[in-house]
Amino acid sequence: MTDRKFTDQVSRLHPGEMFSFLCHKSVGCFTHCCRELELALTPYDVLRLRVATGLSSAELHERYIIEELTPKEIFPRFYLTMVDDGKASCVFVNDEGCSIYPHRPGACRTYPLGRGTTRVQGQINEQFVLLREPHCKGFKEKTVQTPKSFMQSQELAPFNLFNDRLTAITQHPRIKEGMRLSAAQLDLYKLALYDLDTFRTQLEDDLLESPLTVPDSVYEDDERLLEFGLDFIEKLFFDR
Ligand code: SF4
Ligand code: SF4
Repeated sequence: MTDRKFTDQVSRLHPGEMFSFLCHKSVGCFTHCCRELELALTPYDVLRLRVATGLSSAELHERYIIEELTPKEIFPRFYLTMVDDGKASCVFVNDEGCSIYPHRPGACRTYPLGRGTTRVQGQINEQFVLLREPHCKGFKEKTVQTPKSFMQSQELAPFNLFNDRLTAITQHPRIKEGMRLSAAQLDLYKLALYDLDTFRTQLEDDLLESPLTVPDSVYEDDERLLEFGLDFIEKLFFDR
């Protein structure tokens, strides 16, 4: 056991450190990891699920997303619904695999890695862990990867970028110092980050007192709208 091993299943990896792993349709455990999940969704995941399903954000929330805010938490969490099929399967898994594969959430892409970040003087430092669950047969494959190459192969760049922006809010120094959100702030957080269609409509109808000038691009491009939502929340919550 090395000091980089947290448990029998979880160990720390350097960004360039190699491990053998490949997931493909012929592994005996194919889609086993798409069941019995607590699959937390980020704002960018929800944006991509809207593209994958063609549903509005309100419809997505109604059909597929569970919101949770425990008394101990400061920010609400959003989870993808699992189906009551005796196996607690993800709503999007079928015999062929993931039915929304090009738009699957960041957590599905990252597994079996975990990525954490720390911010030092504005710079983001990444840390990785590898989760070796006994049911995952991908570790028996000979393909050698590193956290960096794996992240690239899973096209995680935009997911990580937006997640890092979100972390700047949820781990803001003011939050760490004890700042808590009012009910009105919580509603704005959900609106601007997790309900983009309604956020856009309310901006368009001038129903929100925006602390920032609203760029025209937010009316045409969802990613620009989410970027604006993150700026909007940061400014409203922390700029005083
Ligand atoms: S979204 Fe796709 S990859 Fe993720 S758990 Fe569901 S079926 Fe599996
Ligand atoms: S358990 Fe591992 S190898 Fe099997 S489908 Fe999931 S990620 Fe791929």
